[in-house]
Amino acid sequence: TTTRIAFLGLGHMGEPMAENLVKAGYDVIGFDVVPTALEAARAAGIPCADSALEAVAGADVVLTMFPSGRHLLEAYRGSTGLLAAAASDTMFLDCSTIDVAQAREAAELALSAGHRSADAPVSGGVVGAEAGTLTFMIGAEEKDMDQLNELLGAMGKRLVHCGSHGSGQAAKICNNMLLGISMIGAAEAFVLGEKLGLTHQALYDVISTASGQCWSVTTNCPVPGPVPASPANRDYVPGFAGALMAKDLGLALNALRDSGVAAELGPLAERIYRDFAAGEGAGRDFSGIITEIRNRSAG
Ligand code: NAD
Repeated sequence: TTTRIAFLGLGHMGEPMAENLVKAGYDVIGFDVVPTALEAARAAGIPCADSALEAVAGADVVLTMFPSGRHLLEAYRGSTGLLAAAASDTMFLDCSTIDVAQAREAAELALSAGHRSADAPVSGGVVGAEAGTLTFMIGAEEKDMDQLNELLGAMGKRLVHCGSHGSGQAAKICNNMLLGISMIGAAEAFVLGEKLGLTHQALYDVISTASGQCWSVTTNCPVPGPVPASPANRDYVPGFAGALMAKDLGLALNALRDSGVAAELGPLAERIYRDFAAGEGAGRDFSGIITEIRNRSAG
């Protein structure tokens, strides 16, 4: 295909995603503000520009993979920003995980500058980015879905159109809020089981086939043994790092507040993972929260 993609943000996720677009035959031109990231991308075979504006000139799609919404809005705005630099009707596709409100604001800015816009945050982590097996949760107009499905299909295997602008981010943070809550629940259940004299395997055999069954138990089990591939078996090497769970719960908390939901567990999970990520939990799998619960327990 001759679609030209400016790929901005070549970090842990962006770099392997851009590589998959190159492999699929897209005309990719990358850029990252950090020189070492730019060099690594060039070494991996991704053609790169020397500035964001140079990358955006002549692009059909501007794909961003940034740390936060603040980075995105700063890059979009102003007379020297990306929106002003791009040819009209460019697709601005953001795959970062950001606040729902910021995603909607970014879409409004792009549309009022005469462009198209979509949010498509991912799950699947660096492993999924490298393998091209990411899940994309897409907030976009129906008319843009053919183009997006083709493009995102080169980097992922599950594409879910969740609704219009901001809906991808909304779905992602709802899912991750539930995931954070369910992991704390799973960890508390296993620590209680330990105190009550149950083996991990016995409790697993019950929960995994009974009504407490969930991904946090059957795939990412917080105790070693029952699920050999879970991070608990490798001293909680992520997996999904505590710092990222804390970030996503922070986004969920903002959305809960903005929308006035009377939630109790979401904010509690946010506090628990914020504390976890303030210490060595930042770089451990989020299922390592069980160690904190065990350590705080009496006896
Ligand atoms: P990262 O920090 O490794 O990469 C982000 C890159 O963006 C950095 O290299 C940074 O220099 C660059 N950048 C920032 N501002 C820029 C600008 N104006 N122009 C060009 N480059 C710019 O982060 P990551 O782990 O790749 O994550 C990216 C996003 O994906 C985040 O929003 C994260 O929450 C989300 N995410 C990450 C994972 C994961 O496992 N790492 C999983 C799912 C979603």
